[in-house]
Amino acid sequence: MKSLVILGSTGSIGTQALEVCRRDGYKVNGLAAGSNIELLEKQAREFSVKAVAVFQEEKAKELKIKLKDTDIKVLSGVDGVCEIASLPGDIALNAIVGIAGLRPTLSAIESGKDIALANKETLVTGGEIVNAKAKEKGVKILPVDSEHSAIFQSLQGSPEKSLSKILLTASGGPFFGKTRKELENVTVKEALNHPNWSMGAKITIDSATLMNKGLEVIEAVHLFGLPADKIEVLVHRQSIVHSGVEFSDGAVIAQLGTPDMRLPIQYALTYPQRSDYAFEHLSLADIGTLTFQKPDTDTFRCLPLCIEAITDGGLKPTVVNGANEQAVKLFLEGKIKFLQIAELVEKALHSVNNKKEFTLEDIFEADKKARQCVLSSL
Ligand code: NDP
Repeated sequence: MKSLVILGSTGSIGTQALEVCRRDGYKVNGLAAGSNIELLEKQAREFSVKAVAVFQEEKAKELKIKLKDTDIKVLSGVDGVCEIASLPGDIALNAIVGIAGLRPTLSAIESGKDIALANKETLVTGGEIVNAKAKEKGVKILPVDSEHSAIFQSLQGSPEKSLSKILLTASGGPFFGKTRKELENVTVKEALNHPNWSMGAKITIDSATLMNKGLEVIEAVHLFGLPADKIEVLVHRQSIVHSGVEFSDGAVIAQLGTPDMRLPIQYALTYPQRSDYAFEHLSLADIGTLTFQKPDTDTFRCLPLCIEAITDGGLKPTVVNGANEQAVKLFLEGKIKFLQIAELVEKALHSVNNKKEFTLEDIFEADKKARQCVLSSL
């Protein structure tokens, strides 16, 4: 049985990953979270982990006191999270939200573990560096994002060179079909009301703006090596076809299932095998109709902005990501309106200078500048 560490264990993906571990009996060596020490303590005790890390230093001190009757080591800050990523084990599942996931991914790769990657911001910002490091260390990047898992599953058994196009499906989010006028005054509560998926707040807002689909286009470029113009985004309201591929002979293969993240999480852990256990079964007869249509990129500007960013390359994907992280935070705090998210991402994309050759430090600098650009535009 494989052993793993889970980063972001208290979030939506993290808790579902632990459900898979509980069911399938994986050994969990370490856990990391941002600040939710109540849940982290429970998880650490249940899975008898060797160590935990809390990003917020003060919260880590509190957790140390709570766990003083155990041998569990409590670490803190970004270094602590990276130390958890480096603990012995077969796989590091990264379910941290945002660019905060990038360094821990690199630490896990450095320690030779395969990566089950939910944290899409890792590849959006550091795709080139992460891929190079993974190649050097001989580690696999196993996608957890449901669309990328679907693409990965659809590719199994086919020659690498025969992939000619990716079909990336999108639910369209809670505001599908709305005009810009209708989106002017939408509330945080409405934006958080996703029709098909229950997820963390940031990705739910990203789904409402279609930024999530833009980030996924960038993620797919890094995972599967096709340029953005070979990735077709299709709005598929039922979220049953999780994505697919077209091969050079015109054959299209897709992966279908109920909207349940436990399957892609489980597949990343069992790959190349499949589990004997299914969390859910799909009844196509009950679904009846599957529909597909082009996204409305005039209304949902974040998607074309991400495509522009990955087409320009260099640090531009980091810039759109950083600006979006900052703008979503402001939207959730009630400080900006929904449509301003895309406006602020666009402003940063066209203001922050690009660099085609860059280091990890350049990525964090570009992220900082993008966030400053957003804050100074208010
Ligand atoms: P959540 O907000 O639910 O959870 C985020 C997790 O990251 C929490 O455990 C949080 O800890 C932790 N965290 C936040 N900041 C830090 C930090 N600086 N250091 C360490 N841990 C930190 O997000 P989701 O689970 O929804 O999403 C996680 C990632 O997976 C995102 O990149 C998202 O895009 C991607 N994803 C999510 C899907 C979903 O269905 N939810 C589907 C596909 C991809 P705490 O709880 O203490 O704040």
